[in-house]
Amino acid sequence: MYVCGPTVYSYAHIGNARPAVIFDTLFRVLKNRYSNVVYARNITDVDDKINKAAREQDVAISVITDKFADIYRQDMAALNVQSPSIEPKATDHIAEMIGMIEKLIANGHAYAAEGHVLFNVPSFADYGALSKRDMKEMIAGARVEVAPYKKDPADFVLWKPSDEDTPGWSSPWGRGRPGWHIECSAMIETHLGESIDIHGGGHDLQFPHHENEIAQSTCAHGGKLYVKYWMHNGFLNVEGDKMSKSIGNVLLVHDLIEQTPGEAIRLALITGHYRAPLDWTAAGLVEAKKKLDRLYGALEGLEHVTPAANTAAPEAFVSALEDDLNTPKAIAELFGLAKAANTATDETQKAVIKAQLLAAGDLIGLLQQSPSDWFNAAKSSADIDADKVEALIQARVSARQNKDFAEADRIRDELDAMGVELLDSREGTTWKAK
Ligand code: AMP
Ligand code: ZN
Repeated sequence: MYVCGPTVYSYAHIGNARPAVIFDTLFRVLKNRYSNVVYARNITDVDDKINKAAREQDVAISVITDKFADIYRQDMAALNVQSPSIEPKATDHIAEMIGMIEKLIANGHAYAAEGHVLFNVPSFADYGALSKRDMKEMIAGARVEVAPYKKDPADFVLWKPSDEDTPGWSSPWGRGRPGWHIECSAMIETHLGESIDIHGGGHDLQFPHHENEIAQSTCAHGGKLYVKYWMHNGFLNVEGDKMSKSIGNVLLVHDLIEQTPGEAIRLALITGHYRAPLDWTAAGLVEAKKKLDRLYGALEGLEHVTPAANTAAPEAFVSALEDDLNTPKAIAELFGLAKAANTATDETQKAVIKAQLLAAGDLIGLLQQSPSDWFNAAKSSADIDADKVEALIQARVSARQNKDFAEADRIRDELDAMGVELLDSREGTTWKAK
C-alpha cells in the first residue's frame, strides 16, 4: 500500500491528518488479516513551496524539510498513527526519477523541450479514466498551464530547469528538479514494484496527481496495471467552510493536540466514512471526547478483570472494517460491546468482553491507555478556565516581585491542582494542560 504523504514546509493541518489517520486504520486492519503488509508513505521534500520557504528564511531546503518532517511524525504519533513500514523521501530518489523519465522518452511518451521534460498526454489513451474526466473537458477547464514548449496543453511536467538560486540536480536535460507526480511513481517503483495493491490519498489528489502517476507508471512499465485499488478520503471542512489562510480557520494538529487528547481527535476523524466529506466542528470534537468517556468508562468498570487470552475483536466489528473500511459501523459495534461490558455479571463473560474491547480498540487505534490516564488527561484539558489561569499566573508574577515566595508557591500548587503545568522561560510564563 502506498499513500501520498505530506509536503513538509509547514505544520500539518487537520485536513492533512485525515488521510494519515484513515490509512493508518487501514494499515492496522490489513495487518490483522495478512502476515506481510508493506505500507509506504512518502515525504515530499522537494517542491516549489519548500523552495519559497527556504528562500524567505535564507536556509537550505533540508533545514525546513527535516524540521517539519519531524514535527509531522510527532503530531501524527499523538493521534496514534503508527510509523509506516517505509517512509521514502523524494530527494533520495532523484536518480530513479531520472531513470523513469529516460524510459518514457525512449518509448515515445515524453519529450524534452527548453530544459523541461513533458509527458505527452495524448500518447496515453486511458488518460482521465480514474477521475472519469474527458480530455477535451479538462483542456476547456483550463486548469492546465499553457506553455510554448508544450506539444499539447494537457502535457505535464516530469522535469523542470532550476536557476542558480533554486535547488537542482544534474540530469541529461541540464540542472533541474523533478515535477511532483514523477516522485510518487519513482518511489513506488523502487520500494513496492511495478504493480501495487492499494494507493491512497486525499480526494483532491485524484486529478491531476494520481491520473498523472497512472500515465507515467503504466507507460514506463509496458502497459502493466499500476494500482489495483484506489482509495481517496473525502475533503475536510471546518465549521462548514473550506480551510483557508484568508478566512483564518486553518486548524493545525500541532495546536489541537495541546488542547485536546489526540485520541479524541482521531475518533472525530474516523467517525464518518472515509469517502464522505467531513465537517470538522468544535461540537464534534466534544462529542468524540464524550464517546471516549463512555468507552473508557466501560473499561474502568472492568478494571480488576484480567482480559481473556487469545481473544480477537468480534467478527461483526472486523467485517465492518473489511467492508471498505466502514468505521461508523465498526464504532457502533464497539458501543454495543461497551454496553455489554456495563451489564455483564458473569466473570468469564467480563474477561472476554474486556479482551474484545481492547482488541477492537487497537484495530482502529483507540483504547490503548489506562482508563485512569484517559480520565485524568481529558479532565485537565476540558475543564480548565483559561481566564482564571491567566489571572493566577499574573498573581504569581506579582507575588514573586514582592518576594512573597510562599504565596507564589501556593499559586503554583493551586494551578497544579487545576491540571495546569507552568512553563517558565525568559520571555515569561505560559501554560498547558497536563
Ligand atoms: P499535502 O501536504 O498538501 O500534499 O497534503 C497531504 C495529504 O493531505 C494529501 O493526501 C491531501 O489530499 C490531504 N489533504 C489536504 N487537505 C485536505 C483536507 N482539507 N481534507 C482532507 N484531506 C486533505
Ligand atoms: Zn503521490
